[in-house]
Amino acid sequence: MQSSTLSLVFAAFLLASIITKLWLASRQIRHVVKHRGQVPAGFDMAVGLYNHQRAADYTVDKLRFDLVSTAISTAVLVGWTLLGGLDALNIALRDAVVPSHGPLVYQLALILSFGLISSLVDLPLAAWSTFRIEQRHGFNRMKFGMWVGDQLKEGLLGLVLGAPIAALILWLMGAAGPQWWLWAWGAWVGFSLLLMIVFPIFIAPLFNKFSPLEDDALKGKVESLMARCGFAAKGLFVMDGSRRSAHANAYFTGLGSSKRVVFYDTLLSRLSHGEIEAVLAHELGHFKHKHVLKRMIGMFAMSLLGFALLGWLSRQVFFYQGLGVTPNLGAPNDALALLLFMLAVPVVMFFVAPVFAHFSRRDEFQADAYACVHAQATDLRQALIKLYKDNSSTLTPDPLYVRFYYSHPPASERMAAMGL
Ligand SMILES: [Zn+2]
Repeated sequence: MQSSTLSLVFAAFLLASIITKLWLASRQIRHVVKHRGQVPAGFDMAVGLYNHQRAADYTVDKLRFDLVSTAISTAVLVGWTLLGGLDALNIALRDAVVPSHGPLVYQLALILSFGLISSLVDLPLAAWSTFRIEQRHGFNRMKFGMWVGDQLKEGLLGLVLGAPIAALILWLMGAAGPQWWLWAWGAWVGFSLLLMIVFPIFIAPLFNKFSPLEDDALKGKVESLMARCGFAAKGLFVMDGSRRSAHANAYFTGLGSSKRVVFYDTLLSRLSHGEIEAVLAHELGHFKHKHVLKRMIGMFAMSLLGFALLGWLSRQVFFYQGLGVTPNLGAPNDALALLLFMLAVPVVMFFVAPVFAHFSRRDEFQADAYACVHAQATDLRQALIKLYKDNSSTLTPDPLYVRFYYSHPPASERMAAMGL
């Protein structure tokens, strides 16, 4: 392939993805605004017009913000690639670092500098989302100092976790021969599994406090549900999610013996015991249907394809030149290949995302059905309505927007599937 052909294909994909995003967002905004005046049938008693309109305004605000961040991140992406940003950074670092510290340090420095610049660009957007959008709609509970602390912690964590795996993959790329991508994939899978085990025990507690569930009546209910479903988890924990946000949630985390159930305190304070049981039964449904395992295997298979593709692309001159970078002559190109791949892949993957969203929504229906068998269907209904209401999730999304983006089916479809 000619490098100019790749440039054109890349630009075409980028343009098509922006147009699609813009079109879908404007559809969603129009749809939500059009139905703002009336609560959909079946929800009018439980949600009420005030909350329905609140959800519409929140949804529209978030979409407008998404459009601004899409525009900014696209400009940044074009800046890195076609406009030569990565090329300039590469030349500066290569000339400064290779003579004194050698090729591996230079490559690590390139990846770290790229990561640092990207995070700095994202920072104002993240702040705007928390202190404008979430704040205005009554969800944010963070003070600025705490937010800055979070950002620093996340940055440090990214460095502590990211630098060793980046160094390992770069080393494999240079030392493991033509089949390096297979080794690198193995290292990546091992790293991901390790992260799943380590996350609940060491990483999540850096940001939140986890205390054992103490409400004995609820604990008894939850434990008997888990026994009924034949499920063993290490522990039931309550997370102080209310420190940061009013959004409520519950989730499973961990792998093997580090597996645990986590309830946000915001969820516990809003739902009755029966409703909490139903929400947990839904989560258990995901496990019983092996959704978590299937998703993991799917991700590992995708990353194998990705590494194989990168193994081939990293040897093609057009791959670098087509994305705005002149390959190094006296130094390895592995870090450049990794960065370009990470920049280009999401542009293409955007068009594949609806396939994943489709399977995710199918899983949600299955988990709901499981919950209706092992807990009360009316409790699940009540819990879902409360969560939709409290999180200001719109009840009237655009059907096409749902098809493209939604990992969870809209409330009306979930109720209909439950036969309520
Ligand atoms: Zn689910």
